Amino acid sequence: MPALTFPATAHAAEWEGLTPVFADVEPGSYCVDPEAVAKLLTPDTAAILGVHLWGRACDVPALEQLAERTGLVLLFDAAHALGCAAGGRPLAAYGRAATLSFHATKVCNSFEGGAIVTDDADLADRAALLRNFGFQGEDLVVSVGTNGKMSEAAAAMGLASLEALPSFIEHNRANYHRYREELAGLDGVSIMPFDPPESSNCHHVAIEVAEDEAGLSRDQLHQVLVAENVLVRRYFYPGCHRMEPYRSRAGGPPSLPVTDGLLGRVLSLPTGTAVSPESVGAVCALIEFVVSNSDEIVNRLGASFTSVART
Ligand SMILES: *Cc1c(COP(=O)(O)O)cnc(C)c1O
Repeated sequence: MPALTFPATAHAAEWEGLTPVFADVEPGSYCVDPEAVAKLLTPDTAAILGVHLWGRACDVPALEQLAERTGLVLLFDAAHALGCAAGGRPLAAYGRAATLSFHATKVCNSFEGGAIVTDDADLADRAALLRNFGFQGEDLVVSVGTNGKMSEAAAAMGLASLEALPSFIEHNRANYHRYREELAGLDGVSIMPFDPPESSNCHHVAIEVAEDEAGLSRDQLHQVLVAENVLVRRYFYPGCHRMEPYRSRAGGPPSLPVTDGLLGRVLSLPTGTAVSPESVGAVCALIEFVVSNSDEIVNRLGASFTSVART
């Protein structure tokens, strides 16, 4: 699995008694690099797990080929990918199973909750048993299980959210286009592309900051924007390989140069229905101002700037 993801990806495996092994990502897609995965496979490998990070597609054909060649199960964390498609299919349709999240930070939310998407009928049956104490009928219990059911209130919220999904996506795409237009040509700031935006829910807008061209680092830009009440996030700094319990494992965090490079340069910008295109314009104007005046701003940040990213 990649380390460039929310810790839940790694924790899910760890929770099941599997040991997450982190592979580097591809610079273009930000998703796990199939060649890097191939090099890490051992007889102990249980599964290959890709993350469709920020709604961008993993190299699904290459991962499918690898899984087929090795007989390994291919799974996807599609938490960001509801409403995204590639190769003519929804991203969540790929793999033996894919997981969706309906947490409040996701494009569609049910307060809390999620879904497993699979076309494996046996797996679907087993998951349904686990969700409801192993009940197969009114009083027939055939396996261990737990209470993994969604509450009525959460389901109602989820249905309302699902109904509004097309309008959420339309709003996000408009915001994304506005960001792309306004930030085009700004030195040292490049926006993560969706090819094309119509294939994505555009729920995440990430930029990469090239310090030598922008005149300030991602962390400095982050600090200034947060000070100006712009809620930007350093998703998913510092990477799962540098979070516990993984970072303290024997041998220390693995060397993942592409992942580490990206984690030092990317910044997620505000979007969603609570952010109007006018607000996007204001955020872009601020970013432009900061980059255009980077010398002066870096001077004023001076010694007060302490970066956690540069440990
Ligand atoms: C949000 C998120 C999760 C966790 O989803 P929950 O619904 O909170 O369990 C897993 N993976 C990724 C990539 C996420 O962003």
